[in-house]
Amino acid sequence: MHCPFCNANDTKVIDSRLVADGNQVRRRRECITCEERFTTFESAELLMPRLIKQKGAREPFNEDKLRSGMLKALEKRPVGLEQVDEAISHICHKLRASGEREVPSKIVGELVMEELRKLDEVAYVRFASVYRSFKDLNEFREAIDSIEQDSKSG
Ligand SMILES: [Zn+2]
Repeated sequence: MHCPFCNANDTKVIDSRLVADGNQVRRRRECITCEERFTTFESAELLMPRLIKQKGAREPFNEDKLRSGMLKALEKRPVGLEQVDEAISHICHKLRASGEREVPSKIVGELVMEELRKLDEVAYVRFASVYRSFKDLNEFREAIDSIEQDSKSG
């Protein structure tokens, strides 16, 4: 970190503490050359990546949209809002943890399916059938078969 006063390369940390509920580190630094002191804040970059749509258009990640898609699939299913929120936070966490600035929107779709599958199989099939727009009944049947196999083995 260059000194903002004299631009020297070497600065030393003289104090370091967590701020903003532990989400930031505040550091007091001192320049070894000019002895001026300054403060830096460090925080993890936790931005949601932007989504790349099928035709290449970019759009910001929209949690409300994600939620409404999931709720639609979960309509009249025995799944509480808390579970939905938890699933959404899993999805957001995975997207942030990817560290990517942009991800194909289909990745989000896959993550949603993964979570729905854990929550409710009917909702999973509903979402998958819309999302993947199964080309024919066989493909749909295969998806259901794979669920049945999973539930037998697990
Ligand atoms: Zn300096």
